[in-house]
Amino acid sequence: MISEKVNQIGASPTLKISAKAKSMRAEGIDVIDLSVGEPDFPTPENVKAAGVKAIQENFTKYTENDGIPALRKAIIQRLKDDHGLTYGMKEVIVSTGAKSSLFHVVQALVNEGEEVIVPSPYWVSYPECVALAKGKTVIVPTREEDGFRLTPDQLKSAISPATKALILNNPSNPTGAAYERRHLEALAEVIKGEDIYVIADEIYGKLVYDGFLFTSFAALGEDIKKKTIIINGASKAYSMTGWRIGFAAGPADIINGMFKIQSHTTSNACSIAQKAALEAFGGPQYEVQRMVSEFQRRRNYVLMKLHSVPGISCFNPQGAFYLFPNVKSTFDKEAEGVPIRNSYGLAYYLLKQARVAIVPGDAFGADDHVRLSYATSMENLEMAMDRILKALAKLKTAKKAKRVALNNTVAKVKKSVPVEPAVDAKMRDALVGEMDGHLGYENIYEWNANIGGVLVQLKTNSAHLSDFWMENWYPARLEADVEPHGVVYAVDGIAGREPRAFYNSETKTGVLVNTDGYGPLRSLALGLVADFAERMLGVHAVRGMSADIGGNGLVLIGPPGTNKTELFFDLLKDPRFRLQSNDILFVRYQGGTAAADSVERKLYIPTNTVEAFDRLAPLFDRSKCENVITRKEDCKHEECLRKDDCRLDRGSPYCYKASKEAHALLDPNWIGGKGAVARRTNLRWVFILRNDAVSPAAVKLGKDEALRVLEAGESAGAKKSTAKPQPFYNPHLLLTSPERTELEKSFYGRLLDSAECYLYNSGVAGADKIKEIVI
Ligand code: PMP
Repeated sequence: MISEKVNQIGASPTLKISAKAKSMRAEGIDVIDLSVGEPDFPTPENVKAAGVKAIQENFTKYTENDGIPALRKAIIQRLKDDHGLTYGMKEVIVSTGAKSSLFHVVQALVNEGEEVIVPSPYWVSYPECVALAKGKTVIVPTREEDGFRLTPDQLKSAISPATKALILNNPSNPTGAAYERRHLEALAEVIKGEDIYVIADEIYGKLVYDGFLFTSFAALGEDIKKKTIIINGASKAYSMTGWRIGFAAGPADIINGMFKIQSHTTSNACSIAQKAALEAFGGPQYEVQRMVSEFQRRRNYVLMKLHSVPGISCFNPQGAFYLFPNVKSTFDKEAEGVPIRNSYGLAYYLLKQARVAIVPGDAFGADDHVRLSYATSMENLEMAMDRILKALAKLKTAKKAKRVALNNTVAKVKKSVPVEPAVDAKMRDALVGEMDGHLGYENIYEWNANIGGVLVQLKTNSAHLSDFWMENWYPARLEADVEPHGVVYAVDGIAGREPRAFYNSETKTGVLVNTDGYGPLRSLALGLVADFAERMLGVHAVRGMSADIGGNGLVLIGPPGTNKTELFFDLLKDPRFRLQSNDILFVRYQGGTAAADSVERKLYIPTNTVEAFDRLAPLFDRSKCENVITRKEDCKHEECLRKDDCRLDRGSPYCYKASKEAHALLDPNWIGGKGAVARRTNLRWVFILRNDAVSPAAVKLGKDEALRVLEAGESAGAKKSTAKPQPFYNPHLLLTSPERTELEKSFYGRLLDSAECYLYNSGVAGADKIKEIVI
């Protein structure tokens, strides 16, 4: 498992889009890539020559950790010439790209929990950089009316005692917004009175248009300079993205902190690239001017094209090489029946339809926008804009579809947890004491469920577990003095404890520690109920999917990999079959019949069942859900990822099939309407599933043989799974002892007195064969 802090960040979305564009091009599709964040100009000849010379002179070894002195001197001189700033040699560090400087400065400054203010729309790496330092990003949305600039009032109200720094990107990626000197001075007034730093990312400082005069934040006065760390580099101004040279300039103590970090991460930036950068920063600057005037021409062209599209507005940026149009008017339009819902949807549509790659604004915290880079040839831009305009013209107003707000909770613990099923009385008391200690008075949720006549009380501090518990089961009688038959404690947030389940059979006590997912709680409760009901009530828990046809029931029993779900829902497509249970039934034996009851008010059903039964999707939309995937980064559905036709890419806000761990609590009555659900049936057929290519479709088993198969509980998937055998195919059974096995066998013996048993091979037969046997 990767760490929590890495788990919460995503890979750079711009990288992913560029990679997508590249792979489409490899397939022969002529995609134009407007997602790039680098100038299309070649690195200037004199700069390249300096790199070549470095190689020829064998300048290919480690250098000073913070950069060769000559380069640092050239950077100091450049800062002097460009901004009138004076820095000493210990106040500048050269790094492997501006990104590396930025990462190091955040690591050097931010303590766990400290806040970093980031105006949005923001460059994608800022929040992730802060998250990796365990800091907290405070996002301050800027407004288009304010030129996408942070205002002094916004800054003032975002500052808290925990604020450590402001990251100010001027000019901005993605908006292209630039701050004039007076704007910066107004922010500096606020900064002066506060104990915070400004990380001034000025990587686009040279790329400004219409005669804009760029001012470095550090140039606003000595007092401000002491609080400013300039981040800059060679990537953008000198068309040197691949050379990886960036730098930071700021107070010596902070640069020294970065020096220490860098000495353990990248060490010096590439020696050859440093020599080239020396030429870039120290040599003639006319190539930059040429590039700037070309960018200005392209910006004007793309802007003019965008302005011609009804409903789309675009801010006129004064810097960088991006345009950031507002495309909200395209949302809820559709193309060939597929609605566009957000910036991802539009980007996906343009990639497929117009074969132009752009970046969804959501990646920068501004979903109403998309980012187009004009750092590509005029010819490409002309072609791209023609295609974009044509594709946009094809969009039609969509029929108003009601937006569904997914009712979803994401749990930390998504899978089953290790269970200790035979806790003794002493340990039970100790555990209960510990749990009670954590439950207190204000944070406890308590509720009695009636699970097949067994009253189980839940005591938990998790609102989610309580919520699902109450939704899943029928309520027990309300009288205050009703004593439950069993109690389950589910306590989350206990420091230093692993997720685990415990059970004491004598007192029917279950304890669930640090497990906020509902599956383990439900399973523990079912195990408790089975233990109680089998001993005390003579009622038997059977794990399987069951259906009723005309008062007679069948159950499909089988390990994972035997297509149980597919078979089951195929049967349900026939209206003669009524759903009874998707997971467990409780059976009482009376007068030669096996009366089976379903005990759940709502079914806890994996949402990827939509693959077997697509009618479920709109029902899940209205159900309480757990662990449904809402971000592509979290998708683990290998097949889908390979196919690369992803509903999340197309703008859908969630996907039910992307995770095996996603569940819904579904009202079974919703599946087939009134009368389509049987609460009780008489079990007449038991199908034990296996899945291979050679066994016969259905083999009728005698009672003894059937009992042997059930007791062995061997996994019988097509891919010989390594899963442990599961006696009676029931993972909810908590206790396995010779005595328990005998009890189970005697129950199944009684079931098989009145029900026929088949070993059924789903590898060669579908639901039709079951129907043939049953009808
Ligand atoms: N800051 C901003 C705002 C950027 O857009 C980029 C590059 N996309 C960088 C920093 C990183 O530049 P470098 O390639 O030097 O790491």
